[in-house]
This record gives sequence, structure tokens and C-alpha cells, in this order.
Amino acid sequence: MLRLCGLVAIGCSISLLPLPPHTARRIPRRHKYKGAFYCPNRQGFGRGGNNKSNNPPKSPAQTSTPQHQATMSNSPSISSSLSVENQANDPEGPKYFFQEKYAPLNVRGNFLTLCACPKNVELGEWLAHQIVEQYRLLHGMLQVIQEVNTVTGLPICNENTCPTMSAGRLTYTWLVDGRAAKISAPKFINRVEKWIVSKIHDPVMFPTEKVNGTPETSAIKEANGASTTPSDPANPDDWIGKSSGFPPTFYKDCQGIMKQMFRCYAHLYHAHWLNPFWHINKHDVLNMCFVHFVTVSKYYGLVSDKEMEPMQPLIELFIKQQRVPPEALNGGHWAQQAAT
Ligand SMILES: [Zn+2]
Repeated sequence: MLRLCGLVAIGCSISLLPLPPHTARRIPRRHKYKGAFYCPNRQGFGRGGNNKSNNPPKSPAQTSTPQHQATMSNSPSISSSLSVENQANDPEGPKYFFQEKYAPLNVRGNFLTLCACPKNVELGEWLAHQIVEQYRLLHGMLQVIQEVNTVTGLPICNENTCPTMSAGRLTYTWLVDGRAAKISAPKFINRVEKWIVSKIHDPVMFPTEKVNGTPETSAIKEANGASTTPSDPANPDDWIGKSSGFPPTFYKDCQGIMKQMFRCYAHLYHAHWLNPFWHINKHDVLNMCFVHFVTVSKYYGLVSDKEMEPMQPLIELFIKQQRVPPEALNGGHWAQQAAT
């Protein structure tokens, strides 16, 4: 039960994670998921289905708390196709998270309005805000797999369960002394998190000083009768965020950060969708964070299609359902601005 409470506490704390002060100052925090994140009591760890051979693998939480092994009537049932052979880390195992029936969201509509840059905000400022927000959401999901099993004393994602940073058959490597090295998933994730936090707090990449002049928002351009075509990421003389004091590498840095965040999501799904997210009935929250992440990534061209391949079936599903809005595709932000 303690673990249960711990996970609930993590879920509740997600919307409370602090933003770096400069970003909080710049843009009002109106994107909290207060309604979307969960705080009520856990609905139970058990799963439907009485066929013993078709029960999903038990999570460490279930092992340590036998009272939760019983099937809870209010816990969603999973089809009999789940079997004990389907270990969470089995790269050959079926990918339930790619199936529509296992891919619900706990929000309606899509994230376009939270993603699109308001006319009175400069694009660099907005992207900085988006990066910080996306990291806050991802961090909340990573905390779930970093929860320590009180029996084994190990986190859910540990050196034994995840000796490499895998996403199905794909293994991500980390540069160690100039060489690509296969390090464990918890180590990889720890390094990614530290790296992202250091970037966000880097005053060169995310400047906090007030700049001279007025940031070039599309509203100001409109008022001046100038073209509202926003900064083109391919134009070396007019980079995104220039008028707000961001460096020329800012957009590329944002792409680098989002790429690493994507890899964390890929690992969360491929190695931990079943344990713990499905087991604690929070796969819909993971989906919500991920669909928001994909919307921002596609809208601003921050993660390449090739990089997203390990999650492509789920992304295509969300696109088909318009959970990822059509506006985020085919040019996203730039196409939208040119069209208005
Ligand atoms: Zn893992």
C-alpha cells in the first residue's frame, strides 16, 4: 500500500513541479494539467481475466503487496491476449500500446491551443516555454519508473531490468570518452535529465536578462505592416529567438533536447508500458503526455520522423484520431503562419 500511495503522490506532484524562474516569469503558467492529472485513490493493481495463463506479468508492486493481486472490479480489463511470456522488456513481445483499444487518453480534443504560439509572444520565448513544459511532463512520467520497490530496494527501471537504453530492438547509446557506449537505461535517463536541466538553466541558451529592443512577435509585425512570416529555422541571419536574446544555436539546441526526451518516451513505452503504467492504470496519462509531446514536436519540426520511428504506429494512430491535430503536420507552425 505504501508503494501505491507513493505513486499517487508522484501523480499529484506532476503539476506542481517548478518551472525555471525565467520561464515562469516570461509566460503565464496557464498550461497546468490540474484537471488532467490524477489525484484520486488508485483504482487497484489487478487486471481482469481469470485465465491464469493469460494474466499479465505481475509488477514488483503486486509481488510485494499480495492483497493487490486480486482482480478489482473497477480496474479495466485487458484482453486474454496478454500472456506471461510477454515480458515488458521483450523486444519481440507484442506492442499493446500500438493498439487502439489500449491507447486511450484522459483528455478530450487535442493540444493545438497549448502548442500554437500566441501572436503576442515571440517564437523563441514560446519555444523555451514549450521545452520547459515538455520536460516537466516527461520528468513526471520518469519519476514513476524511478519509484523504488521497498522489497527489492530497486527502482522499477534498474540495471537488471534495463541493462541498456532500449526501445524494442533499438538501443540508444551514450557518448563516453568520444565513443558510443551502451549504458543502462537508468543511467542514460539520469544523464539525459541532468543534461536537459543544465541546458534549461544555461543563461546563454535560455537567457534571463532583459534584452534591448522589442521582441518580434507576429502581433508587432502585423501592427508595423511588416510580413508576419516568422523566423525560418533555415535562415542563418534571422534565427528564432534573435530579438529575445537567444543564441543562433537555440532552435538546434531545442531539437537536441526534444530528441533525447523522445528517446525517454520510447523507453517508457517499450520497456515500461506494462509495468508499471498499465498495472497502475495510468497508461492514459502516459499517452496524454506523449501525444502533447508529439504535437509540439511535429508543429515546430523539433524531432525528425526518422527519430520517431520506434513509436510510429502509435503516432499514426493519434494522427488518425486527430489527437495530433492536422495543423501540426505538413509544415506546422510555419505553414499555419503563412496561411493567416
Ligand atoms: Zn527501464
